[in-house]
Amino acid sequence: MYITHIATELNPIAKVGGLGDVVYGLSKELSRSGHQVEVILPKYDCIDYSQLHNLKVEFRELISFEGFNRFNNTIWSAEVENLKIKLIETHHPRYYFTRGVVYGCPDDNDRFIYFSRTAMEYLYKSGKRPDILHLHDWPTALIAPLYKEMYAPLGMKIGGTLLTIHNLEHQGRCSVFNVEESGLSGRQLLTPEKMQDPYRKEDLNLLKGGIVYADGITTVSPSYEREIKTAAGGCGLQSTLQTHVGKLRGILNGIDEDFWNPEIDPHLIKKYPPHRPLSKKNLPKILSAKLENKAHVRKHACMRECSTPLVVSITRLATQKGPELIRHAILRTLENGGQFILLGSAGDSDTYKSFEKIKDTHPQRDNLFLCFEKDEAFAHLLFAAADMIIVPSLFEPCGLTQLIGLRYGTVPIVRKTGGLADTVFDIETATAPLKERNGYSFDFPDAQGVYWALDRAFACWRDRPEEWKKLVEQGIDTDFSWKHQIPKYIEFYREIISTELG
Ligand code: ADP
Repeated sequence: MYITHIATELNPIAKVGGLGDVVYGLSKELSRSGHQVEVILPKYDCIDYSQLHNLKVEFRELISFEGFNRFNNTIWSAEVENLKIKLIETHHPRYYFTRGVVYGCPDDNDRFIYFSRTAMEYLYKSGKRPDILHLHDWPTALIAPLYKEMYAPLGMKIGGTLLTIHNLEHQGRCSVFNVEESGLSGRQLLTPEKMQDPYRKEDLNLLKGGIVYADGITTVSPSYEREIKTAAGGCGLQSTLQTHVGKLRGILNGIDEDFWNPEIDPHLIKKYPPHRPLSKKNLPKILSAKLENKAHVRKHACMRECSTPLVVSITRLATQKGPELIRHAILRTLENGGQFILLGSAGDSDTYKSFEKIKDTHPQRDNLFLCFEKDEAFAHLLFAAADMIIVPSLFEPCGLTQLIGLRYGTVPIVRKTGGLADTVFDIETATAPLKERNGYSFDFPDAQGVYWALDRAFACWRDRPEEWKKLVEQGIDTDFSWKHQIPKYIEFYREIISTELG
């Protein structure tokens, strides 16, 4: 099968969050299982060019359109490891992809609408006809209507389109004019059945366009698939999703087991011994590697070396991630005599201040280390050094940090929502078989919920070390690699292709 992903992030060259991890892991595993896979991305100036191989010009002058204007673009081909990628460099006078960032510009709608149109122009003009065009979130969702309303009528025939919703919260609300710049008739799309935004009736909604027009939709966990069809989780798009429920699936994300592999991870001070399948004799070596990583991290954070658990949170500090609950987790950890490291990025200044206040005033402040950056290397080291990772999200489509934590022998403490509920099974309260239980969870997103889960984890760590080791062992043994999810994607791709042809 020939699968083309069109996306705005790709680990490790342009990663903002989990979307980059997922596009990379999924594409690599699809390609490993024998499919022809490529990823089309904007050629951002902030790409990590050191990770690209064989970068060369494939198409020097590709004309694309914005409204009535024509702009030139250069298409580059390259490889990230063995994965083939295409980069669209635009010579648009607004320098859409030379802003030093992936997202966060006031004209993000314009930037990604232009990228979507140009990616389609490239496929159309180069004669490429993928079996599946796989789109990711609102920035590339417009490709589904572009294909159906513009390129298919021009005679372009592909197998079908699939949209993955990584996070329904971000939808790409924009004006009719914005969409008209892509060449589509924005006025005709302004209906409740098509792209009209559920809240701002005069506006269009790019993600909704993808939901309505794509041949298949996936989201990144079965629980999130259920949640987004309800008023509580649907962010206004629940009735559109209910209408299109026949083409919606929840397929859990995996983690890329090469990139997140503590046996070879270059960022660890002490790598773990080979441990799959885990045997009892390996566990002490893993725990001793964890101790070495922890000692290094403590030194770096100017924390005392002592026998107390290290709790971490590695997250964007968006409202979704429960910064208030992370604050409660910090306070409780300090009260319990533990140590806490927060690696938090992309928060606002009030959020940062609320954490700094604890650091400035708490009597146990030496046991707290705050790092408000996006630091890939430090994140890897923390996954290996920590005893517990807290993920108290208000909602979480899938979540990757709990999965990475498990692989690095770090016990997850999570709020039971979305993908967190599908992957973390409470050692004491879950209905899952005992040997599948791998962490702690709580239901209600409040301080009491956090305290309840954290206190139980601390009690086990302190009073029942053998039980704790068993929990770590069961976590490491849980296999959340992509290989279990790939067959589900392949099956769905095949269904889409056969429906389209039929
Ligand atoms: P989301 O995509 O909503 O941010 P996920 O849990 O799906 O959340 O994925 C987060 C990814 O980003 C993980 O790979 C995690 O390690 C990484 N990450 C999050 N915050 C940081 C940070 N401050 N520094 C480095 N990596 C981070």
